[in-house]
Amino acid sequence: DFPILSEQVHGHPLVYLDNSATTQVPSQVLDAVANHYRTSNANVHRGMHYLAHASTDALEHAREVVARFVNAPSVDCVVFTRGTTDGLNMVARGLSHLLQPGDAVVVSRLEHHSNYVPWQQACFSCGARFEVADLTPEGDIDEEDYARLLSAGNVKIVAMTGCSNVLGTVTPVARLARMAHEAGALFVLDGAQIMRHGVVGMQSLGVDYLAFSGHKMMAGTGIGALAGTREALEELEPRDFGGEMVDKVTAARTTWEELPLRLEAGTPNYVGAIALGAACDYLSALGREDIAAYEASLVDHAEAALGEVEGLHIAGSPKERAGLVSFTIDDVHPLDLCTLVDARGVALRSGHNCAQPVLEWLGATSVARLSPAFYNTPAEIDYAVEQISRAAKMLHTARRRG
Ligand code: PMP
Repeated sequence: DFPILSEQVHGHPLVYLDNSATTQVPSQVLDAVANHYRTSNANVHRGMHYLAHASTDALEHAREVVARFVNAPSVDCVVFTRGTTDGLNMVARGLSHLLQPGDAVVVSRLEHHSNYVPWQQACFSCGARFEVADLTPEGDIDEEDYARLLSAGNVKIVAMTGCSNVLGTVTPVARLARMAHEAGALFVLDGAQIMRHGVVGMQSLGVDYLAFSGHKMMAGTGIGALAGTREALEELEPRDFGGEMVDKVTAARTTWEELPLRLEAGTPNYVGAIALGAACDYLSALGREDIAAYEASLVDHAEAALGEVEGLHIAGSPKERAGLVSFTIDDVHPLDLCTLVDARGVALRSGHNCAQPVLEWLGATSVARLSPAFYNTPAEIDYAVEQISRAAKMLHTARRRG
């Protein structure tokens, strides 16, 4: 289903293990995109002609599919966005009116910059406190510290990830959300990483907002969604103004459309939304629980195999890890390592992975990350680990020789 996986890179078969950054796109989704442009393309929600209806119907069908996929309270509780970052910024900006000096927003030290900086900036501009819940030595959210921050009072918003893109920590979302609600705060879930690894039912988790990205779940780039409870989405002040999000426009006053259009100013990325719907259908047909179980077995396999490499340290040992293993190797820079394994066809990620607070916690400025998806095999992981080991030896030898 994934044509790109048959590519050769640098003369070697591609072993793509950078799925936490972006997943590949199956033919079913590529075909949905091509078919839309071939047969149904027209601007949505505007025209009265045949194609305008076909295009609008396809977009709204995709919204229904996505709403079911995340168990949103209703179809109009799904807003299409450019991705997780866009959705989180939309919420941070849209809720600024709730924040007064003395109020607080709580995040965790696990957060990606996308779920950290928007809240920090909102707090700076509103005079609110920006609080960061610490981690346990294993890399789980320290729930005592979280409870302490909540008990300080005036916490209006909690924003946390479902899964860390550095440690792979799966967070206890339902409990974290319940604690936030008991403290009178709204709970925002960064679903970027967890969408593929768990069956994220928005309503059963009890979150107020869920932001996620299509490109991390086989849909391709430029699309994502923000799902929320009706009440929570209605609380958002529109961040973007323009076409289709308005009801009545006069020089004196403008009124807004109903949800979700109120939060989708301008021509939406409707083909992206159609791709996201097709990706949700694809994942559902494969079986999300089966995917999660198989990917968990790949992560266990990677953890065990990497553990055998001399001088290699796996980042964190959370209670539950999903999707990825990050690591460092003594006297090896992750960038050098990833460059050398790339020459053998293995795609890994290196760097701070847009999560400097957790890198600082690790005492590192950079890590290497191996992140499999369901199209990977244990044999590919073994090959990657063999190449990692070989590259580390080469780098150690080069270092010894000066
Ligand atoms: N949060 C997490 C946990 C992520 O891993 C990422 C992507 N690396 C993001 C947010 C941001 O996603 P995007 O770049 O698609 O907006």
